Amino acid sequence: MAGLLNISEPSSQQNAKNNGLEPDFLTDIKTEATAQPTSHSSYSRDDIARLFDLPLMDLLMQAQTVHRQHFTANEVQISTLLSIKTGNCPEDCGYCSQSGHHRDTTKLQAEKRIEVDKVIAAARRAKATGSSRFCMGAAWKHPSAKDMPYVVELIKEVKALGLETCMTLGMLDDQQAAQLADAGLDYYNHNLDTSRRYYEQVVSTRSYDERLDTLAHVRNSGINVCSGNIVGMGESRDDRIDWVHELLKMPKAPESIPVNLLVPIQGTPIGDKVLAEGQLSVLEWIRTIAVTRICCPTSYVRLSAGRESLSDAEQALAFMAGANSFFYGDKLLTTGNASQSSDNRLMRELGLTAQFAAPRAPKQVPVLDAMSGHQSQVVLAQ
Ligand code: SF4
Repeated sequence: MAGLLNISEPSSQQNAKNNGLEPDFLTDIKTEATAQPTSHSSYSRDDIARLFDLPLMDLLMQAQTVHRQHFTANEVQISTLLSIKTGNCPEDCGYCSQSGHHRDTTKLQAEKRIEVDKVIAAARRAKATGSSRFCMGAAWKHPSAKDMPYVVELIKEVKALGLETCMTLGMLDDQQAAQLADAGLDYYNHNLDTSRRYYEQVVSTRSYDERLDTLAHVRNSGINVCSGNIVGMGESRDDRIDWVHELLKMPKAPESIPVNLLVPIQGTPIGDKVLAEGQLSVLEWIRTIAVTRICCPTSYVRLSAGRESLSDAEQALAFMAGANSFFYGDKLLTTGNASQSSDNRLMRELGLTAQFAAPRAPKQVPVLDAMSGHQSQVVLAQ
């Protein structure tokens, strides 16, 4: 298996270290980011499947080791997410309360675009409470021509506060991606959600290839890519393996990878099914985080939806599995999130510290995509 550490059979060199007072894993695991990041690993689908099959402790150990080779230990990146346009989305994502297709059963109150001033006030509050990135989400199929000046203004205003910016606005064409890049957008989120095979059980109004096209436009524009999944929608482990493999088939793995645990929402087709049939084991979600960390060693692996219902111990295991980013605040787009006070307490108890913001300037391109830890180097575009 490419690049795997053999945890169950230590080498003779490791055994020699055991003659000292310090266990070899304590001396081997680095506490500072020292290794040069590689853009992506070369795991085959079979390698990914074997990782999922490892005993959980071996998998966690390996994921944490890989994490420490590429990131500063015990440091997490914190984002705040704001819905800038809620509900009545023309897409039919089976898990989402914002879909107009499910509005009769979810009863979600749709809201128009939020005024710029209110978004900026929310961004200021996010910065004051320790977030380094402000993410703005709109329930659109894609932004329209008249939406573009609005989102460009938001990017510029939020960046002026010293925050990194992220947006999730649906599909983008190449020109829209270029406009957002010129405004200095740091990250664009567009999740693959699941495997290509299971995707048709989840969404019918937008194809898997359209998602990949949007991600390619984002990548080509120089904006960092944020793309993740939702586990626990009734997909099989094979689908989770295929989703990881899909990330590795991209020219470069996403810089940010949210691994969401489905929050089943009553009134949505997938939410109702999961509520009736039972939810995925939290440990399988943690396995998915660990495998993602190992296969995408330089990406930020983000805890997003699903955290609210987890115990401290389960969240600690997720960080052990290599997650190093999470959303802060009491609410995600429309679902609940862990409260800020409980996040602050958990961070103190786990000894985690928050990473500082490193926004890129407009018309600049990132070097190494700020994925090497603290330093965000940029050079002027040609
Ligand atoms: S997940 Fe996004 S695209 Fe899908 S229905 Fe919800 S808001 Fe629309």
